[in-house]
Amino acid sequence: MPLDLDIAVQAILDRVLDRARPVGGGELADYIPELAAVDPDRLGIAIASVRGDVHVAGDADTAFTIQSVSKPFVFALAVDALGLEAVLEHVGLEPSGEPFNAISLDEATGRPLNPMINAGAIVTSSLILGGTAEAKAAHIVDGLGRFAARDLVVDEEVFSSEAGTADRNLALAHLARATGALTSSVEVATTAYFRQCSVAVTARDLSIMAATLAAGGVNPLTGDRVISADAARWTTSVMTSCGMYDESGTWLVRVGLPSKSGVGGGIVAVQPGQFGIGTFSPRLDARGNSVRGVAILEALSARFGLHVLSQGPEMRSPIAAVSEDGDHRIAHLRGELHFAQVEELATRLRPLLGGDGCLVLDLEGVTRVGGAVREVLRELPSIVGPRPDGGPAIALRDPDGVLDPER
Ligand code: GLU
Repeated sequence: MPLDLDIAVQAILDRVLDRARPVGGGELADYIPELAAVDPDRLGIAIASVRGDVHVAGDADTAFTIQSVSKPFVFALAVDALGLEAVLEHVGLEPSGEPFNAISLDEATGRPLNPMINAGAIVTSSLILGGTAEAKAAHIVDGLGRFAARDLVVDEEVFSSEAGTADRNLALAHLARATGALTSSVEVATTAYFRQCSVAVTARDLSIMAATLAAGGVNPLTGDRVISADAARWTTSVMTSCGMYDESGTWLVRVGLPSKSGVGGGIVAVQPGQFGIGTFSPRLDARGNSVRGVAILEALSARFGLHVLSQGPEMRSPIAAVSEDGDHRIAHLRGELHFAQVEELATRLRPLLGGDGCLVLDLEGVTRVGGAVREVLRELPSIVGPRPDGGPAIALRDPDGVLDPER
C-alpha cells in the first residue's frame, strides 16, 4: 500500500459516492435519442486542486457530452478575448429565474438575460473568433481542451441530433438577431453552439476545467494561462448567480459553490483558490440538473464546509509549523479541518511520509474538525499502514479530543 495521505482524500470521495449511489429518481434527457441511450446508473466524481492533484472515484473516466456545462467556459473565452464590456453589449448578467431554454430577452436592451441560458449562450458562442461556424467551433473545442489539459473532440452523432432537433434554439437565435444582440447569422451561431454542446468530456476533465477557473485562469496541470484572472473571476461570478438554471438562488444558499450543470449529467463546481469538482450522473430532475450530482455537491458542501461565503480567517493554511524529534516529523496543525484542508495536508505533507520514523499530526491547535473528515482522520493510521520497518507511518496527537465522535 502506498504511504500516501492521498488515501484520506480517496476514502472521502469513495464514501461520498457510496452515500449518493442509492439516491433514486430523475430521468435521462430524452430530447435526442443519444442522451436517452446512456446507462442511467453511471456515477463518477473527480476533484482537481489548484496545485494539480487530481483525485477520482467511480465512473470518473466515462465520456458524456458536456452540454450546458460548456457555457461558462465559452463565456470565459469570449470575455478573455474581447473584454467584459464588449461582451455585455450582446448578453446580460442577470439571473433569469427561468428554465434553460426560456425565451428570455431583456425588455429594455433586447439582450439575453445571461450567458448561462441557451439564448445567451448562443450569442456568446457567436462572439468567439472565426468567420465561419466551423472556425468558431474549432476555437471553442480547442479552448475547452486547454481548460481540460487534453485535446477534446465533438461527439458527431450527438451533434447531428442536436442540429436536427433545433427548432427552439433556432427560434431563440432568430429573436436575438431581431433585437440586435446576435450579430452573426443564426446558422453560424447555432452550429457553433451545437458543436460546443456535443463535446465529449469526463468528470475528470470537468474537475480540471473547474480547477483552471479556481486557479485564476491557469491550468494547474499544464501551467498554461488559458484566460486572464479577471475573466476567471467574471466567469465564477456569473456561475454563482445563474449557473443552476432556475434553481440558482437555492443552490447558492444550500451549496454555495459557483457551479454549472448540463443535461448530459455533468456538473462542475469551483471553490476559488482551492479546487474544482466534476460530477457525472445522467438522471436529471425536472429542472435539468443531475439528481445524484446535486446530492453529492450538497453533501460535500455541508459535510466539508465548502460554502464560499463561509471562508473566514480560520480557512488559512492548516499547517502552522513542522518540527523534528529524532527520526520523527511533527506537523503542528491549526484552525478548522475540512475537506480543503485535508486536501492541502495530503499535498504538503506527502514529502514528509516514508523513510525512518513516523509523521505525527499534532492536533493541539485544531479548533474544529468537520464530521466526515473526523472519521477519516481517526482511521488514517490504519489506512496508511506501517512503515517498511514495521513501525507506524502516521500517528495522531489529539490532546483535546477534537476527533472524539461525540464532539
Ligand atoms: N444542447 C442542449 C440545448 O441547447 C443543452 C441544454 C443543457 O445542457 O441544459 O438544449
